Amino acid sequence: MELSVFLKTFFSRPLLFPKDTENFDRLSICQESELVPYAPSSIPCGPYLIFAPHPDDESMGMGGTILLAASSGINVHLVIVTDGSLGGKTEIRKIEVQKAAHILGIKTIDFLEIKDRDVANEGISLNSVTMLTEKYKPKTVFLPSLLEFHPDHRATTASVLKNLTSLSDLSAEVWLYEISRQGEVNRLIDITNVAEGKKQAIRCYESQISQVAYDDVAFAINKARAYTLGANVQYAEGFWATSCITKPEELRTAWKEKINTYWTGIR
Ligand SMILES: [Zn+2]
Repeated sequence: MELSVFLKTFFSRPLLFPKDTENFDRLSICQESELVPYAPSSIPCGPYLIFAPHPDDESMGMGGTILLAASSGINVHLVIVTDGSLGGKTEIRKIEVQKAAHILGIKTIDFLEIKDRDVANEGISLNSVTMLTEKYKPKTVFLPSLLEFHPDHRATTASVLKNLTSLSDLSAEVWLYEISRQGEVNRLIDITNVAEGKKQAIRCYESQISQVAYDDVAFAINKARAYTLGANVQYAEGFWATSCITKPEELRTAWKEKINTYWTGIR
């Protein structure tokens, strides 16, 4: 076919998707910066009270932030909620968390020894939460993200939050941290300079890493969290921060509103 004939034939065809600008209903879709932070945040005020459902969750989820806090002189107190018995021998898991805590600069560890995978049934008692908050007087309480897969992770957050709301004399921020997946975040902490220390802490959990490469999982999430922070940030930890203690249902509503933002302008 001659080129002139080909061109005439090609351009005389109707377009598959005709551009009808008059009837086009423009979508007002939100920008990325409404969904995820584009700058790293500072670490929150201490002392910290961190609830880890199992030994290793604290290191995987927020080991970098703990290192940054401890090196700034913030007292970090760790609460291990379950006995971790479904993932290995309880005594070994206790030794592992003590080694990791030493590397991270954690000041104290309390063990609640609820049976593994039973937090939803047993709950974390008001007595325990009262005792821990009176003892450590936290300015920031850390709990697992609402979108965690493991039921103990979600049950820990629900149970602790419910009890915190009944403590009228406690004034603290609540920060939710990511352990096994990305959830919603409104704070990103740059952990590039302490990444090696976080790796060492996670590698204390030999009994767990021999089953799953949890160190790789944690750092894959941390690498992905650096996506919006520029070339100088190699790794970041993501959090959902609230400026005060909120009821579980209020937090759920806030997350629903955030997730709905993705659909803004889409009909
Ligand atoms: Zn866990």
